[in-house]
Amino acid sequence: MIKCANPSEQFKSHQSRIENAVLNVLRSEHFVLGDNVDNLEKEFARYIGTEYAIGVANGTDALELALRALNIGIGDEVITVSHTAVATVAAIEATGATPVLVDINSEFYSIDTTQFKETLSSKTKAIIAVHLYGHAAEIETILKICKEHNIFLIEDVSQAHGAKFKNKRLGSFGDISCFSCYPTKNLGAIGDAGLITTNSAKFNSKIRMLREYGWKNRLSIYPGRNSRLDEIQAAILRVKLEFLEQDNLKRVNIAKFYSEKLKGIDAIELPSIKKDCLHVFHLFVIKLKKRDELIEHLKKDGIFAGVHYPVPVHLQEAYISRVRTSKSMVVTENIVKEILSLPIYPELKKCETEKVIRSIENFFTNEIN
Ligand SMILES: *Cc1c(COP(=O)(O)O)cnc(C)c1O
Repeated sequence: MIKCANPSEQFKSHQSRIENAVLNVLRSEHFVLGDNVDNLEKEFARYIGTEYAIGVANGTDALELALRALNIGIGDEVITVSHTAVATVAAIEATGATPVLVDINSEFYSIDTTQFKETLSSKTKAIIAVHLYGHAAEIETILKICKEHNIFLIEDVSQAHGAKFKNKRLGSFGDISCFSCYPTKNLGAIGDAGLITTNSAKFNSKIRMLREYGWKNRLSIYPGRNSRLDEIQAAILRVKLEFLEQDNLKRVNIAKFYSEKLKGIDAIELPSIKKDCLHVFHLFVIKLKKRDELIEHLKKDGIFAGVHYPVPVHLQEAYISRVRTSKSMVVTENIVKEILSLPIYPELKKCETEKVIRSIENFFTNEIN
């Protein structure tokens, strides 16, 4: 069986290091917000290239706390995309602000910057730019619009740990940037975890308060949350962070191999990479008309492809009446029927990648016959 993502294989490849790190926590006296969290924050900030990093409980919380740190709440609007993990929108909704969901461009599936501009209102306080699938959104254009209109930029880097634009890591462009470390992500814990990066001392100290009841010296000066990161997850993430560059390179090589072998199949649209970008292939997403038939065919060969995502957030029951959208959502609504995520993770073996390719080739050969 070949899965779309496979965090247990990743555990096996670093097993003794991870087991030792966890044992050290179990035998210590600190279980939440201790030395491992402190060190992870320092190491991650250095890796991303920001002044500060803050550990939190998960990626959704990271986004919610970032918005709260910017004083965003009821009566405000926050722009993002509908073609994203529901978490991006859930975090906005949790603050009381209104999510404004903008269509995506058809080449890279990131926010359509023309429509982004048209959707701005006097209530717009921030944009959450999602770096989907491991690839940068149009960061320069987005930054320019943010400056012109005096709105904050939050990056959602949950799918792009380590990715770059013009040699700078994503997560270092925004006022505040947010990362999920859910097990399947490029930097994944063995449980839930999240990280926030920023260059602002002010936001850094406010987020540190917000993640623990809004406390300063054990008195709440903001209405806060509990979003602490525990030592076990931080210890695991410190081990995995050491291998992130190497693991991302493995993803890139698998992506190159897929692209090389599948480029002859006209019915498949392969992922394209923007100029000046390091894409870290959290997902390898192809587009084709016979998507559902291919999923079934792959399944028969023991290959489990995914769909990220099958239903845009603005069409999901919980959010239909709670979001505003851009005038057109046509790209978002059409591509969900045609996108397919092929298996990709650092431990995926060459013979397994070949098996996936062969299965796809067979699907198209049989179809012609
Ligand atoms: C995974 C993910 C999140 C949510 O993270 P959790 O840790 O599951 O809360 C947010 N945004 C994007 C783009 C994601 O892929």
